[in-house]
Amino acid sequence: MMRLPPFRYRAPRTVTEAARILAGEGPQAQFVAGGTDLFPNMKRRQQTPKVLVGLRGVADLRRTRGEPASGLILGSGLTLTEVCEDARVRSHYAGLARAVRSISTPLLRNTGTIGGNLCLDTRCNYYNQTYEWRQAISFCLKKDGNTCWVAPGSPRCWAVSSSDAAPLLVALGASVTLLSVAGGGARTRTLPLEDLYRDDGIDYLGKRPDELLTDILLPAVNGWRATYWKLRRRGAFDFPVLGVAGCLYFEGKRVREARIVFGGVASHPRRAREAEAFLAGKEPTEETIREAASIASRAAKALDNTDFAMGWRKKMAQVYAERMLRELAGLPIPGGELAQGPLGAGVYGA
Ligand SMILES: Cc1cc2nc3c(=O)[nH]c(=O)nc-3n(C[C@H](O)[C@H](O)[C@H](O)COP(=O)(O)OP(=O)(O)OC[C@H]3O[C@@H](n4cnc5c(N)ncnc54)[C@H](O)[C@@H]3O)c2cc1C
Ligand code: SF4
Repeated sequence: MMRLPPFRYRAPRTVTEAARILAGEGPQAQFVAGGTDLFPNMKRRQQTPKVLVGLRGVADLRRTRGEPASGLILGSGLTLTEVCEDARVRSHYAGLARAVRSISTPLLRNTGTIGGNLCLDTRCNYYNQTYEWRQAISFCLKKDGNTCWVAPGSPRCWAVSSSDAAPLLVALGASVTLLSVAGGGARTRTLPLEDLYRDDGIDYLGKRPDELLTDILLPAVNGWRATYWKLRRRGAFDFPVLGVAGCLYFEGKRVREARIVFGGVASHPRRAREAEAFLAGKEPTEETIREAASIASRAAKALDNTDFAMGWRKKMAQVYAERMLRELAGLPIPGGELAQGPLGAGVYGA
């Protein structure tokens, strides 16, 4: 049985208190929300904070504010179940509800939070292993070692971003608010979610460790359609080995703007910008979509560090991008609902 290492637990009641405690405890401290990612990582000694600042008692993080017509604000401490069962999310941001519903299992969704999902550690076959397993290969660059076993000549870590919510929220153009108390007074800043991420398997978050993610700002519902497709081995609870989110704005029959974002293929949610530009101004016909999916798949540079063979995952990036775009264009999907796996038929954002 794997045991947690010893740690002190602090239980703030407000966001400012949480940020203040973390700043006071310094680099040895870390926030914990649901703990569904952090606690297993601590058991495997991948992350070893000495102090945990628990966010469960911070009521302000568990609120939903605003209206879909002007934009909805999700508190980062809402559980995944609370997000995907919220009536406003289900009817106006159905693509998000679908992405969140695809995360792990009902039990984990009752505990894991949307903020924790966006700050999820990156994953790799050589890293998500027990301490003893990692020790037997002299560890790796991401933690305790010197070599990247995926790309031994590489000076960087290629562990992948495996959040299911992040690609969809980046595609929607969501933003996040961060709070810190560095230098005494409380300070907040808001940035596009896309800018929260770095393409670096170790330093994967573009926020300071002392910054608390407080809110996720969803844009106003204004005619876009969004959806998410996920590839994994077991439909019941696996992490994505590939996720593809899409958001299309239509002007009549033509696509005014497109956003296509892959998960599970890089250390950050990766936008397929060439394909986005290709689709703009075009009618999403069978041919256009096939071409767009082929262009999009170039952005999905699968490496040999997750489940399934690398070459097959690369091919599936094109297949899943095409299915995702066909769904948004209202075209039949080859293989019908079976192609969707256990998630069921397509849903739209607006
Ligand atoms: C068996 C299993 C299957 C899983 N399957 C999936 C899956 O299919 N898809 C998927 O996306 N995830 C999956 N997960 C991962 C995890 O359950 C979810 O991502 C969950 O949403 C994480 O949220 P949490 O609140 O538990 O995060 P925690 O474990 O509490 O925290 C995760 C990280 O975020 C930081 N953090 C948390 N909240 C904040 C905040 N407000 N501000 C700043 N930093 C913060 C923590 O310090 C930590 O670094 C799975 C986990 C398990 C154990
Ligand atoms: S990509 Fe390389 S450095 Fe990163 S976790 Fe995997 S083996 Fe380690």
